[in-house]
Amino acid sequence: MATWYNAFADLKALYQALPPVPCEGCGSYCVTPHLTLVEFVYLLRYLGENFSRPEMITLLQAPMVPAARFPGNFLCPLQDQKGLCRVYPARSLSCRAEGLPVIDAMSGRMAPVCRQGKQKQLDLEVTEMTVGDWLNRVGAISMAYHAFYEEPYFLNALNIECWFAVMLDPKIRQPFFIKLRNLLRTEFNFEFLAPYYLDHTDLAAQLDLIDKFFHACRQKRPRQAVAAMRRVIAEFPRTGSYYQHEGRESLKHLFHLEP
Ligand code: SF4
Repeated sequence: MATWYNAFADLKALYQALPPVPCEGCGSYCVTPHLTLVEFVYLLRYLGENFSRPEMITLLQAPMVPAARFPGNFLCPLQDQKGLCRVYPARSLSCRAEGLPVIDAMSGRMAPVCRQGKQKQLDLEVTEMTVGDWLNRVGAISMAYHAFYEEPYFLNALNIECWFAVMLDPKIRQPFFIKLRNLLRTEFNFEFLAPYYLDHTDLAAQLDLIDKFFHACRQKRPRQAVAAMRRVIAEFPRTGSYYQHEGRESLKHLFHLEP
């Protein structure tokens, strides 16, 4: 008998089981969030049901505002003018975990994190293992919804601007992303947004370089591979750290070279 897997029901159940964090809506920690595929579709559905077309166009065209507390990062475009979340019921796991004391501890002070939970002395039984379990669960739900992984794109999540780029940037031509775009189209009719799209990410240029890198690796051309990886690092230093790690390991493994 055929079974039907409802990824969104599982995602909702996971979200509902998370401990509440006393967010005071300061907005300072709401940097552009990372979402797995299933979380992005969940958010899109929410937007489609709760926002008018003009409101969605305004969201899409919101200017990128540097996040004062996170140099090199930008505030989330889904905040309203007071810094409050406009998609609160549909926000992602990364948003929901912000403010838990364990996230503060896990950050190793590499970046400022919200300390609401700590300041309120929340007695939450949330450990690093618990957070790891949530991440595994949301990853598994997303992969069961659609296997969002294909070499050479070592991705399991994208930030919100990159998701909009996948949906709307005609310069992105890789077959993997075209497939993703078509999948998103079955969930959400976004054609009306296309004329208003502003490219904030340069994702198309990054993907072209990643393609060059992997093409050079396959062709066993170390100089071209190193040159492409160096350009990724120099021109797009914030390209996914997991990708950069895999790229470096590929260079070592194939050519015994460092970028
Ligand atoms: S989606 Fe909402 S909670 Fe998450 S970063 Fe944006 S404004 Fe903050």
